[in-house]
Amino acid sequence: MSTNVSPAHDPLLFTPGPLTTSLTVKQRMLRDIGSWERDFAVLVSDLRSRLLNVAGLPRDGEWTAVLLQGSGTYGVEAVLQTCVPPKGKVAVLANGAYGERLAQILEYARIQHVVLRDPEDAPVNPETLDQCLANDRDITHVAVVHCETTTGMLNPIEEIGTVVKRHGRIFIVDAMSSFGGMQIDFEACAIDYLVSSANKCIEGVPGFSCVFCRKALLLGCAGWSRSLSLDLVAQFKAFEQDGKFRFTPPTHALLAFQQALAELNAEGGVAGRNLRYRRNHSVLHSGMLRLGFSPFLDSPFQSPFISAFHYPRDFEFNFGVFHEKLRQRGFVIYPGKLTRVDTFRIGTIGRIFEADILALLSAIRDVLAELGIIMTPTLDALQTMPECE
Ligand SMILES: *Cc1c(COP(=O)(O)O)cnc(C)c1O
Repeated sequence: MSTNVSPAHDPLLFTPGPLTTSLTVKQRMLRDIGSWERDFAVLVSDLRSRLLNVAGLPRDGEWTAVLLQGSGTYGVEAVLQTCVPPKGKVAVLANGAYGERLAQILEYARIQHVVLRDPEDAPVNPETLDQCLANDRDITHVAVVHCETTTGMLNPIEEIGTVVKRHGRIFIVDAMSSFGGMQIDFEACAIDYLVSSANKCIEGVPGFSCVFCRKALLLGCAGWSRSLSLDLVAQFKAFEQDGKFRFTPPTHALLAFQQALAELNAEGGVAGRNLRYRRNHSVLHSGMLRLGFSPFLDSPFQSPFISAFHYPRDFEFNFGVFHEKLRQRGFVIYPGKLTRVDTFRIGTIGRIFEADILALLSAIRDVLAELGIIMTPTLDALQTMPECE
């Protein structure tokens, strides 16, 4: 059974974040700590060094983890608007809403960019990028989303990174919904900047994002930031000088995060967590097939973190009603974000376990019956028996 007892009896969140967190993570926030206390500087430095560990990066002083107040988007925006020089140009690879957001950030910051688009059901293409970089010498940086949370697609960052490196450009990866949930090899992927946040696979509460990069590379960007609060160089320098955030830190979220990191460790680190998420995903996937749903992605690129499903065919399907009936039973699912087809999404990350997925599937079956939606699973689906039976 799950360990996510919530004193408020909140429903379980099958979403891409904020997520269901453990009771112990929530309990760690029952404190008030001042940001000028020595304890606080110790906490921040402990978190930054443990994060390097989770990332599998050496703690020899070359790499750093810079924390920034705000949700994940703030971290991505901080990297793009701090680390691209005034005359720089970014190639964005996009196959979903989060890829489009990278382009939107550049648009706002008035940074030159090109967007290389692929369909939402296909991974981004390293060959298109190769040609683009060969033809356009002005491009200084390449940005891509690792797990495109719109569909759950895992983009091939190692192939992309290899191309970026061959052309000698800087590589920025938004690994918001994958970091901590699977091993990412910074070296093999030739990653220069990687962004994640507190409330995805590490299972903390929302409040800050985290940027991994080489100190020397970051320091070379001094003076380029177009924003005061999103200046990543200034943020990093403040951490190095006195261990402090420049502006009010999310103290409670940082405390919760320390507990979340301890729980990640207790689960066997990233490998252990990856195992649970893969299990969650496979139970969900086979269960949904047997209920008659079809997943949007039918590919080896599907991540274990979140999945998109088509609306039931041949029925008047009202997602709002479906969502509400599930919520009343204690389960929160997520709307779709695709541009051309109707989908809804189910996340398999956060403090949720196989038993929770099975309970969700049984609630979905009940709600479908109540709504008079009768779907026939394909023969293939019927043969996909869940591994647990
Ligand atoms: C969650 C997420 C973000 C950040 O979204 P916020 O709402 O700002 O936390 C960015 N990119 C991806 C791929 C994400 O999944």
